Amino acid sequence: MRKKFVAGNWKMNKTAEEARLLLNELIPALEPFSHVERAVCPPFPYLMMVRHMLEGTNIGMGAQNMHWEASGAFTGEVSPKMVAEFCQYVILGHSERRTYFGETDETVNRKVKSALSTGLTPIVCVGETLAENEAGKTAEVVWRQITEGLKDLLPEEGLKLVIAYEPVWAIGTGRAATAEVAQSVHANVVRPALAHLFGQEVAGQIRIQYGGSVTAKNAPELFAMPDIDGALVGGASLKAGEFAAIVQAAA
Ligand code: PGA
Repeated sequence: MRKKFVAGNWKMNKTAEEARLLLNELIPALEPFSHVERAVCPPFPYLMMVRHMLEGTNIGMGAQNMHWEASGAFTGEVSPKMVAEFCQYVILGHSERRTYFGETDETVNRKVKSALSTGLTPIVCVGETLAENEAGKTAEVVWRQITEGLKDLLPEEGLKLVIAYEPVWAIGTGRAATAEVAQSVHANVVRPALAHLFGQEVAGQIRIQYGGSVTAKNAPELFAMPDIDGALVGGASLKAGEFAAIVQAAA
């Protein structure tokens, strides 16, 4: 009943020309899998171009970040309304934002609220570091990131968001969580935290993506798990054939 959702996070990669070439290949490759929700998340400067290229397809697009303020003197920042002119989705709280750019549960919470009030679907990223994992703190960290990051939202707002569980130790390392480990965090931590905030029924409807070294090879196993509702894909989303194969695995 939860439609699978696969999004490609391009991060800070590709020239405009390379992005155009990737999409020329990707659009026809994704065409047959319309029962999977799929989206690409290019860097800000390419959003307008990619929007044009995606016209007439049902492939969605997301930004990788935004500010929470509506407008004003925030040099270098991009507002929710600017993102919403081009995108349906916005990735928020990615671990690289938390690690390198001072993103906290509090700023994630502000951003989630402004994304929702602007009509965007936030993809809210959570996940423990290697040290936290080794210290047995996965459940504690993920629970806190969800309950603080989504604080003060109404259940009907909860219904509009997507969670991406991305263990930091699995991102870009080629060392994905096993399907069993990811399933266990989704089912025993993420969904119960959502139920704590929004009630069981709403929690049961929210998509939980897995992210961290997802490839065409490990995707089928991950997507076979009952609580893995898709993926947030980094490195493997930069190659059309590989990303299309991941989407196909979700079909
Ligand atoms: P990866 O990145 O697929 O390259 O590990 C995932 C992400 O950071 O969203």
